Amino acid sequence: MALVACQAIEHSPTVELFQQRILMYWQVHGRHDLPWRNTTDPWQLLIAEILLRKTTAIQAVEVYRVLGCMSPSEIAALDLQTLQAILRPLGLHEVRAIQISEIAHAIANLSAPPYASDDFLRSLKGIGQYISNSIRSCAFDHRAPALDTNMIRVLSRVFGLVSQRSRAREDKELWKIAGQLMPEHHAKEYNWGILDFAASVCTPKKPKCTQCPLSDICLYYKQNQPA
Ligand code: SF4
Repeated sequence: MALVACQAIEHSPTVELFQQRILMYWQVHGRHDLPWRNTTDPWQLLIAEILLRKTTAIQAVEVYRVLGCMSPSEIAALDLQTLQAILRPLGLHEVRAIQISEIAHAIANLSAPPYASDDFLRSLKGIGQYISNSIRSCAFDHRAPALDTNMIRVLSRVFGLVSQRSRAREDKELWKIAGQLMPEHHAKEYNWGILDFAASVCTPKKPKCTQCPLSDICLYYKQNQPA
């Protein structure tokens, strides 16, 4: 990875501006209407993240309304066919049903699931660093980046970060830098702000640079200005 000014990156004025503007973007333009964005319940957030994998938010909403209000014990009591039927509109329903059922059984057996623990979350079937970080940032304000392709794109463009790994999401150095770039607080608003900003402004193709609140601090924008 080209470690752009990585020394003390978290204290640079550019980073502070970046954090402030992403948080402002979230306040003004963020998708506050999505139901899992109005909860800090780690179980509900876990269900939402499983539903959102390879699915659009719009598709996931209806299924979330059914499963998001069920406890781990209630879901564990469902047979797999019933769970699959609920999940069918999202696709991957057989895989998702097995995953949710196994996780529900594991959690239903615990009197106080340690949701704030990264190790615990990642011990659950199919839960990796991204989902663990999403849950802990939303439920506990942990400074844990939800580093997906969207966040990678924004950080790469603004700060000029370039991973040497073919799969940037597996680059531990990138995860570390993404964590350093996060503000001390408001972790969920920051993660969601970047997600929404990446979807609407800093899009994969034809980013809306001339309307972008980050253009004055964005390396990609500076490098792509006409001479
Ligand atoms: S200026 Fe363009 S490339 Fe840079 S963050 Fe904004 S939209 Fe993305």
